[in-house]
Amino acid sequence: MKEKFEELKRRLGEVADLSCASQLLDWDHQVLMPAGAAGLRAEESATLDRLTHERFTSDEIGRLLEDLRPYEESLDQDSDEASLIRVTRRDWEKARKVPSDLLGEMSHAAATALPVWVEARKNSDFASFLPCLERNVELKRRYIECFEGEPYDILLDDYEEGMKAPEVREVFDELKRELVPLIEKAKANPVDDSFLETKFPVEQQRALNTVILDRFGWDPNYWRLDEIVHPAAYSFGTMDIRITTRYAEDGLESLYSTMHEFGHGLYERQVDPALERSPLCSGASLGLHESQSRMWENLVGRGLPFLRWFYPQLQEAFPQQLGSVDVESFYRAVNKIQPSLIRVDADQVTYNMHVILRFELEQAIIDGSIALEDLPEAWNAKMKEYLGIDVPDDRRGVLQDVHWSGGGLGYFPTYSLGNVISLQIWGKVREAIPDLDDQFERGEFGALREWLGENLHRYGRKFTPMETIERVAGSSLDAGPYLHYLKDKVGELTGAAA
Ligand code: ZN
Repeated sequence: MKEKFEELKRRLGEVADLSCASQLLDWDHQVLMPAGAAGLRAEESATLDRLTHERFTSDEIGRLLEDLRPYEESLDQDSDEASLIRVTRRDWEKARKVPSDLLGEMSHAAATALPVWVEARKNSDFASFLPCLERNVELKRRYIECFEGEPYDILLDDYEEGMKAPEVREVFDELKRELVPLIEKAKANPVDDSFLETKFPVEQQRALNTVILDRFGWDPNYWRLDEIVHPAAYSFGTMDIRITTRYAEDGLESLYSTMHEFGHGLYERQVDPALERSPLCSGASLGLHESQSRMWENLVGRGLPFLRWFYPQLQEAFPQQLGSVDVESFYRAVNKIQPSLIRVDADQVTYNMHVILRFELEQAIIDGSIALEDLPEAWNAKMKEYLGIDVPDDRRGVLQDVHWSGGGLGYFPTYSLGNVISLQIWGKVREAIPDLDDQFERGEFGALREWLGENLHRYGRKFTPMETIERVAGSSLDAGPYLHYLKDKVGELTGAAA
């Protein structure tokens, strides 16, 4: 039986190699490739993706999984071996349900829609994007038909395995109820961040990013930092972590973007090396991944203890801009809460309302209760209701995100789930490391990094997202700690207890 297991591992290793090669092509596309090669690259990527899918969904892997059932039952269910068989079987059965021509049509439709969306957004012209959206939704309906279950749950499962829409709705309803008045309160007590409306030369920002990454604990022997248009983290196994950032003179966004991507990269870096070259060698879900990026960006990087260590260096780099601004004022400015039109620019509180709006619209799209041509109107009404702002045009409204052009329905909820999970884990971190704030003030982040590695990262994908959350946070999904954190923050910023 051991030989069959080794044979399964060997085949999965090949699939993992192919998948890494495909992702490497994508990284290269975003970071290095001359733009003229885009057409050729699309062919190369499609070939690799097809080979990966064929290898993985092969009858041989199915037969090995079947033969290994008695072996699996004899194993400790928490062991790497049992997890590998269990997760592979789930992935394999799911992948086999979708005909490869449908997958091809979906990726072709996404590739066709992308430039149409870019153009439509530029011109704020929803009508020109509508046919692509109709096509994507039609394909998604066919995709849903491949499975049994509630339609939106099936979409969600691609990003947050096992999560059901009612569970998400319960958490989001709680957020909505609590956050709307909180946002009103913040609006009534605006924070002064006018000193950030100036120029911060990129050269100094680059140097500061390295200072932060050195202290956070990256090892350039296994990591890279590159520049990109849309920052993301890439990994090709635990020994090759490539994060990216974006520089602009008119703010310090690059620093927070780097901290965010570091959080994603660290999760991949600290997966147990024993899981290398297998389907288990990555984070458990998008929500858990986002919990890690948001933790480093917001709970560390926007916290006062971190700033007490880092801010003097920031002032030294930008004496004219920040020399006369004290750390408390800077802290308030980078935590400012103010409703705005664009999700990716939103603060920690209002961000969730952007996500909830999309989650509600997506469900209406899938259950057919909204006609696609009415989306802009529905979008604008919800923006008014949740954030109190008028949307001047579709470019800054319904057309702002790339997700729907690629058929990515069901993805958005994971962003806010990440916020919620990050605070559940943070509570455990603080219990385990009582002097965390003192460590941060000294610029020491090793204890946090190691705790996360030991209690979360090393598991990779061995357990479902829900099981993983329970292992690391000791409870199921719970918005309580996150709401508590946000209320404290708003209270601090508005100078009164919330
Ligand atoms: Zn992220």
